[in-house]
Amino acid sequence: MKKLYYENAYTKEFTANIIEVKEQDAKFHIVMDQTSFYPEGGGQPNDLGKIDDSAIEYVYEENQKIYHVTEQAPENFYNVKCQIDWERRFDHMQQHLGQHILSACFEKLFDGETIGFHLGTDTVTIDITMENMLPSQAEKIEYLANQIVFNNLHVHQRYPNPDELKKMPLRKPPKVSDNIRVIEVDQFDYSPCGGTHPSYTGEVGIIKIRKWEKMKGGIRVEFLCGNRALKDYHWKNNSINKISALLSVKDIDAYEGIDRLYNEYGQMKKEIRHMKAQLTDYEADFLYDRSDVHKKTKLLVKVFEDRDINELRVLAAKITSKPDIIILFGTKQDLKVQMLFSRSKEIDINMNQLFKEVAPMINGKGGGNPQSAQGGGSDVSNLEGALQAAKQIIQNRYL
Ligand SMILES: [Zn+2]
Repeated sequence: MKKLYYENAYTKEFTANIIEVKEQDAKFHIVMDQTSFYPEGGGQPNDLGKIDDSAIEYVYEENQKIYHVTEQAPENFYNVKCQIDWERRFDHMQQHLGQHILSACFEKLFDGETIGFHLGTDTVTIDITMENMLPSQAEKIEYLANQIVFNNLHVHQRYPNPDELKKMPLRKPPKVSDNIRVIEVDQFDYSPCGGTHPSYTGEVGIIKIRKWEKMKGGIRVEFLCGNRALKDYHWKNNSINKISALLSVKDIDAYEGIDRLYNEYGQMKKEIRHMKAQLTDYEADFLYDRSDVHKKTKLLVKVFEDRDINELRVLAAKITSKPDIIILFGTKQDLKVQMLFSRSKEIDINMNQLFKEVAPMINGKGGGNPQSAQGGGSDVSNLEGALQAAKQIIQNRYL
């Protein structure tokens, strides 16, 4: 079987004869006498495309045969027309050769060895044996990689004999023992590889490192080449333009603008926290002073609209730090109700027990301790009723 993608990586259309069809799990695994569809392998994803009118879903190699998986059974076996999804293939070629170049730069500049390569739909990464990388180092690597692109070096595929192989300064040892294929980027890099690559480095387009992170045994570097880099640049440029317009700063000052805004925001949050605390102090004093007095004990019953329970808890704690007061708070929020019962520490009433007595009235649950209890319920209509019932119990039983 001829692997046309090794004879010419730019073959987009070809004709072939189907020599074997295997039916498996309602799919057809087709073998042809020649193919330009690249099977998944060596970090490079498989090609897609069509055999006549059947869409190819997957291509893989097994026992020296290349299988093309389709949903439809083939109708013709001779001179079938095959068409490669070229946009996808060329993208893989750009990312793949970009990886060779980038890996070579890591090795030449910082002795970083490539121990992993992943070419995904959304991200492309290489794993490098460097403990960490400084931004200045990344910049040097990127710069060299792009000079290799701009110099438009010829990319050769070589099938060296054992003697020639020994003389080649291979970047990594080959994974196979016969028919070793070496991709040479014109005296710059020699790497054993079974993938597809453009003929000149210029076709890779820009090589851009996006980010990197530490991982076990090194760093994982995410990068993009060619059209992917262009698309990445496109949305980033849009983003920066929008941000700089929003902040009324030059695009190059967008980060400083955000940084300043973020600091201001932090400052304001602090001020708001401080003001809220002050306001709560005033509110606590106000409510305390205006509470009804029953036989020397103040009784404060109040329903709040849409007030956060945590805020109410702070308010309640401030009020009950003063002497001789019982508070029965309720709040309605998003079709739910919450109640908070609390008292000054010297009053001898079990608020937890009281809460549990009236909680069923709001279809609620919760609890606490003798001094303070809280909980939520689903019956919004009966909140006032429940608070009044609790007030009655206090007046009748305790005061
Ligand atoms: Zn390769």
